Amino acid sequence: MNNIDVLVIGAGPAGSISAAMIHKSGLSVRVVEREKFPRFVIGESLLPRCMEVLEDTGLLEAVKAKNFQQKSGAKFMKEGRVSDFNFSDQFSEGWTWTWQVQRADFDLALITEVESRGVRVDFETTVTAIEFFEDESSLTTVQRKDGTEEQINARFIIDASGYGRVIPRLFNLDKPSNLDPRKAIFAHVNDVHRNDHDEPNRIIAVMYAPGVWTWIIPFSNGVTSVGFVGSFEFFDSIDGDQIEKFKTCINGNEYLKKRFGDVTWVFEPRKLEAWSATTDKFYGKGFVLTGNVTEFLDPIFSSGVMFATVSSHLASKLVAEKLKGANVDWDHAYTHFIRQGVDTFRTFVMAWYDGTLEKIFFSTNPDPLIKRQICSVLAGYVWDQKNPFVRTHEKALKGLLKLIDIQEHSPQP
Ligand code: FAD
Repeated sequence: MNNIDVLVIGAGPAGSISAAMIHKSGLSVRVVEREKFPRFVIGESLLPRCMEVLEDTGLLEAVKAKNFQQKSGAKFMKEGRVSDFNFSDQFSEGWTWTWQVQRADFDLALITEVESRGVRVDFETTVTAIEFFEDESSLTTVQRKDGTEEQINARFIIDASGYGRVIPRLFNLDKPSNLDPRKAIFAHVNDVHRNDHDEPNRIIAVMYAPGVWTWIIPFSNGVTSVGFVGSFEFFDSIDGDQIEKFKTCINGNEYLKKRFGDVTWVFEPRKLEAWSATTDKFYGKGFVLTGNVTEFLDPIFSSGVMFATVSSHLASKLVAEKLKGANVDWDHAYTHFIRQGVDTFRTFVMAWYDGTLEKIFFSTNPDPLIKRQICSVLAGYVWDQKNPFVRTHEKALKGLLKLIDIQEHSPQP
């Protein structure tokens, strides 16, 4: 089948959701994926907003069957102090929990379910070139592992190639991000001391040093993902190779040292760097970009898979409408919508790294309503215009910081 309605590039969460939606609409769809699954990819903590998409695409049950670790909130830790957000106590209506997942298994579960519905998925098949025509159709060249090539005609392409950034790279659409470049060193470890600690299965973000933080993402099988994120200078200032740097970081924090000081690896520390990327346009004649290809900000609030699922869910609905003859206003219906969510998180990411959120998270006597509103942003409900931390995100955070400063500097009775 090399004459199809929609070609989906990539079989990550964005690719699976896109393929499921196009298939559901009755159009023909084919997925091409560079890797053989299961494959490792980072991005292990989901947000409740993902659940709505998994439910609507009928993929929720396939994920439930994997028995992943449930995630009920966001917990931040600094020098023994804890700031806790529970998704069951939030402002926006929505899901109150989600999962912490080994992505290799999660992504495999999604694409296997999509394949079982009759969608053709070609693994180890890489897109190497695309030609678009006047009528918006395209001819895509793919190369298989054995070096053979095939050309696929499609009426439309959904680019869900994540860090591969296929269309932005082929057509020079990439733009530098306005976030500082950062680096992560991470590993999967046997978390044998998990039960010696409070809430052993909770995800925790540890504020490690100014501009540096640690993720702790426990999985249901006793393995935990641990990663350090900071500037290049921070990691350069630590001696040794990646393993030594990782161990030095562990030993530099009391909680981490107790829990992971005698760490044994499931896989040894790996690094990722300068991941923030964006592009000039999220769509064009004959294609739409979804998931990480649109924009990836930063790992701190675990927003990556949420954006991948929400953007591909919306994009594929619009593609189906368009191919059935509707006039789609992509700027308004897609770009504007996605940017609204991305910009809300961008403000929060910047506030995390400039210290604003630390002051807010650890302020004394937080207002319960404000806490619920912030909790909804952390759950991924970044399109709820009733929430001031969504509607006027920058102003709301600045205003709150000012209020906290005034309260903390006013004389106590
Ligand atoms: P991907 O999952 O990257 O899938 C894209 C697929 O396209 C891949 O399988 C790839 O092989 C395929 N592909 C690429 N090029 C081609 C080609 N030429 N031809 C065919 N196929 C191709 N997100 C979270 O939600 N939670 C987190 O806790 C989190 N932590 C992170 C930590 C770090 C350090 C970083 C850098 C990111 C983190 N993320 C996190 C983000 C997360 O990794 C991504 O947002 C998410 O994987 C995006 O999904 P996707 O489907 O868009 O892309």
